[in-house]
Amino acid sequence: MRLVILGGGESGVGTAILGKKKGYDVFVSDFGKIKGNYKEILLINGIAWEEEKHTEELILNADLVMKSPGIPDKSPIVKKLLEKGIRVISEIEFAAPFTNATIIGITGSNGKTTTTMLTHHLLKSAGLNAGIGGNIGKSFAWQVADNKYDCYVLELSSFQLDGIKNFKPHIAIITNISPDHLDRYDYKYENYIDSKFRITMNQTEDDFLIYDADDEAMNEWFTKHKTNAKLIPFSLTKILEEGVFINNNKMDIKISQEEFTMDTEYIALEGKHNMKNAMAATSVAKLMQIRKATIRESLSNFQGVEHRLEKVLKIQNVQYINDSKATNVNATFYALDSMNTPTVWIVGGVDKGNDYNELMSLVREKVKAIICLGVDNKKIIDAFGNVVDMMIEVDNMEDAVKMAQRLTEKGDSVLLSPACASFDLFESYEDRGNQFKQAIKNL
Ligand code: ADP
Repeated sequence: MRLVILGGGESGVGTAILGKKKGYDVFVSDFGKIKGNYKEILLINGIAWEEEKHTEELILNADLVMKSPGIPDKSPIVKKLLEKGIRVISEIEFAAPFTNATIIGITGSNGKTTTTMLTHHLLKSAGLNAGIGGNIGKSFAWQVADNKYDCYVLELSSFQLDGIKNFKPHIAIITNISPDHLDRYDYKYENYIDSKFRITMNQTEDDFLIYDADDEAMNEWFTKHKTNAKLIPFSLTKILEEGVFINNNKMDIKISQEEFTMDTEYIALEGKHNMKNAMAATSVAKLMQIRKATIRESLSNFQGVEHRLEKVLKIQNVQYINDSKATNVNATFYALDSMNTPTVWIVGGVDKGNDYNELMSLVREKVKAIICLGVDNKKIIDAFGNVVDMMIEVDNMEDAVKMAQRLTEKGDSVLLSPACASFDLFESYEDRGNQFKQAIKNL
């Protein structure tokens, strides 16, 4: 069987190694440059590859193609493969049949990484031999090739889910759904929602789907579609018959005919959105029969994830917070919502069709000054120009932070939560967050 892999990144190289181990004739083709030491790894493993081109004679003879999630179905080479009737799948679809491990799959528009890392933390604290993968760290396929774990917690983007046919997690989470990446979905929100729900399409009555019972898009989906999985809802606003919910400042966990509570003040992660992430991760822990004491302890000592509402430093009693990963309005909504001191807000970057109206009342209530940092400032200025006292444009992070310091007084906060992509001024959201942190240290 000839396995052709499009994209020589983490998921491509991982799939190549697994494919080779399982006896496939493997070829990796990357239209760009293959980064880091992946070329050496392919070489050591005796896997053929090419870069900066797609040679059709070497690709269109495939029996099976694994395409990296970054490559859209509309790219010319994928179109040609599909026209020829060649199966094109994603890494998780390829790798899952080669492991008997329990799979926990986590998707959603926001909160995937946080929930995945927290879930992994809970399982590890309970002594389970758990791996973490998907969009995080070492690719799932690579880990399956190494055959190290009894269970995996996987962060799954909608692009990964678009490439599945038979894949199913034993436990699935959809954290929430709000519009994102619509360019890959013909600008139709329904297509994007359907893509997220692919996580449950192969689940059976023995599997579980954990979801946010307060989420409009998901509730709407359930009025028209069904899943075979057992549903475990979580909610910030409702008392539930079964599931996880908040009642009198306590998280109430009612799953599998058992019930226990935990004071929310002991949960280390802050903000309403993180309470939801904690409820979702706790549901998994309970389904995996982790002891109450371990759940309580793990939720209270989880340190959070870099670039997500990360407390950087306090300087002259001003708290600096790095939320560079907030690349859409919904994520920024929860960041602003969690602020409880007057805030200087650094916002902007590449606009993804943002509707800033959703933030209006929070900005009115919490923001004393706005610093715009990006190519698409005009929309931000139009939206909030009359709402805050001070609105300033800058063109680099160093100036943004210096300006923020000037505008604050004791007891205030500075929040970087851009609501936009970072590719105008930065290499990535990590680069943006790191520059922010460096500029703060320079103060
Ligand atoms: P993802 O992996 O889905 O992008 P992250 O955990 O990396 O999610 O968080 C991305 C951004 O969204 C961060 O700014 C974070 O503070 C915010 N966020 C985290 N969880 C949620 C949630 N449940 N709802 C809305 N925003 C969230």
